[in-house]
Amino acid sequence: MVRNKVLSKFIAILVLCAVAFGCLLSAPSTQVQAASSYDDLVDEKKRLEEEKKKIDQALKEAQGKVDDQKAVQTQISYQIQNIQNQISVLSSQINTLEGQISQKNQEIEEMQARIDENYDLFKKRLRAMYMADDATVLSVLFGSSTFAEFLSAAETTQRVADHDDKLIKEMTAQKQQIEADKAEIEASKQQIEASKAEVMAKNQELNTALSQSQDTLDELKALEKKTQKDRDQIAADLEAADREIEEWLKQNQSTDTPLSPGGWLWPVSGHYRISDGYGWRDLYGKQQFHKGIDIPCGLNTPIRASKGGTVIRANTSSSYGNIVIIDHGGGYSTVYAHNNSLNVVYGQTVNQGDVIAYAGNTGDSYGVHCHFEVRVNGVVTNPLQYVVAAG
Ligand SMILES: [Zn+2]
Repeated sequence: MVRNKVLSKFIAILVLCAVAFGCLLSAPSTQVQAASSYDDLVDEKKRLEEEKKKIDQALKEAQGKVDDQKAVQTQISYQIQNIQNQISVLSSQINTLEGQISQKNQEIEEMQARIDENYDLFKKRLRAMYMADDATVLSVLFGSSTFAEFLSAAETTQRVADHDDKLIKEMTAQKQQIEADKAEIEASKQQIEASKAEVMAKNQELNTALSQSQDTLDELKALEKKTQKDRDQIAADLEAADREIEEWLKQNQSTDTPLSPGGWLWPVSGHYRISDGYGWRDLYGKQQFHKGIDIPCGLNTPIRASKGGTVIRANTSSSYGNIVIIDHGGGYSTVYAHNNSLNVVYGQTVNQGDVIAYAGNTGDSYGVHCHFEVRVNGVVTNPLQYVVAAG
């Protein structure tokens, strides 16, 4: 039969107090004080575990945000690369057009020079023919022996004038054509310059976005770092809480009560193989002291109390997983770790053979097994000095 030993003791002491002092509010027993202290430790550990869960979640979120922001940055950088390629293409187009424009300018200049030159010649010829000396012109005209010759001379003079005039007009027309071409090129250049300005503005925008994204990323990384630090702190706090609980158990183990009678029972009936023995072992190249024996078995195999006693620990540890410790009196206790679930609570009295837990793979465990320890005055000892691997 399972009784709550602590509660019954508490009531007995309260009754004793009431009898002795006629008062129910006198000093509580050390047993009760110790129990509440243990509960405080366990509560504190639970609180830390809850906090760790929150921090783990926050860390996951922070890491997710950092990754998202990195993706945003990659996208922006890709766009900037794209835009810079466009800018370089447009700049090269503008360069080409500027080359063409300067070519046209040169052609215009040359054409103008030719026009000026021809115009000068034309003017000289006209002056020579009509203005320099009337008599000479007349003699050219009237020197003709026949009227036909006269007409021919006059016509020739006119033709020379016409030819020069036509030549200058043609050259002027050519020059105008070149100027029109140049204007067209300048218009294209302006269009491309407008496009380039647009692309440059976009580039500016993207660079601003990139720099903002970098600021955000820096902030997020700082947050991630801080959260990581919080997480390390809480992990250290949890380890400290575990050590405190262990220490409490060492201090409060009942050495005053005698060791419960009878022998020691193998904790996992039907499973007698030991996969890892007590003592120093090599774990992934690191020397480690194994505090108990590992008994592999199937998931949810019943784990039994090796001896009768009181449950002094029934909770979860980061390393031991779901753990039960039974105080057997006389300074002896047994430990059952990595359970899938527990079947007892703190303070409960158990008899030898009672199912206290179901085997699992919780805590620092690689495969379903029962980690079994025997402690004497809180110090681990080889369990095989007590239990025998047999049914
Ligand atoms: Zn083990």
